[in-house]
Amino acid sequence: MRIPPFLTLICAVLLIAPAIPSSGQTESGLEPAERLLEATSAGRQVLEAARESRIPWGHGQVSRTEVTATRNVHDGVETVHYETRVIISGSKSPVFQALDLAHELVHALRPKENPFHPTLRAGDYVVRGIEGEGGEAEAISYECRVGREWVESVKPSVLSEEDRALVRARCGMVWKAMADGQKWKKSFYYLGQHYRDFLERLTRLDPGPVELKWWKERIDPRTPVYTSAMAQKPYPLALLEEYLELTRKICSRSPAAETPFSKRCGSIDRVK
Ligand SMILES: [Zn+2]
Repeated sequence: MRIPPFLTLICAVLLIAPAIPSSGQTESGLEPAERLLEATSAGRQVLEAARESRIPWGHGQVSRTEVTATRNVHDGVETVHYETRVIISGSKSPVFQALDLAHELVHALRPKENPFHPTLRAGDYVVRGIEGEGGEAEAISYECRVGREWVESVKPSVLSEEDRALVRARCGMVWKAMADGQKWKKSFYYLGQHYRDFLERLTRLDPGPVELKWWKERIDPRTPVYTSAMAQKPYPLALLEEYLELTRKICSRSPAAETPFSKRCGSIDRVK
């Protein structure tokens, strides 16, 4: 393997965030949002799991989860070390910060995927990012599970009528759509004006006829329903671009020739 022994990649993010406190258990600046989560069983569960896993959270510009993966090779043995942190938009009100925190912690707790794997493929990266454990579908359904508990069972002293109305507006469509699991998952693939661009880039990655047929049945030119706040693009495109960015970073340091990465690196050369 010819890539250098140290290489750090930041996945699921394109910006470097300001420093945040070392642990979610100390001052995060998000205490009102944490208290709102503590008022529900779904919120308590996810906070507890995050504290157990020592995932730090704090506030920044845009809510997101950052996973930094660092690859080391020592005596021919490869290890990948992961560091995860969650950033929540500091400009939102506590109720929206709480929903974002529940959402991002679901991502932060997901099983790690090795971005250095030579055979990691774009299509799989996108689908797992949406439908896999801790992916977008699960994160959105979880935040709206918290929302349902607020609306149905917490006291008005915890959450005002006005905040309840905001939660209903954000989650109403999700509660309804989730009743049909397959249809709901498909709605993540609505690409609107990005439909052609996505299909073209994916086709250039040479997915093979069976996978390409699957994608053509999956994606949809209707107006996007769910959009990445970070990339401001529908999730399939945001994830595809994230994959391309990660792969470019790996390939820029890896001589193209006969490495285990040659196929992966060769495939992205055809994509703009
Ligand atoms: Zn998300």
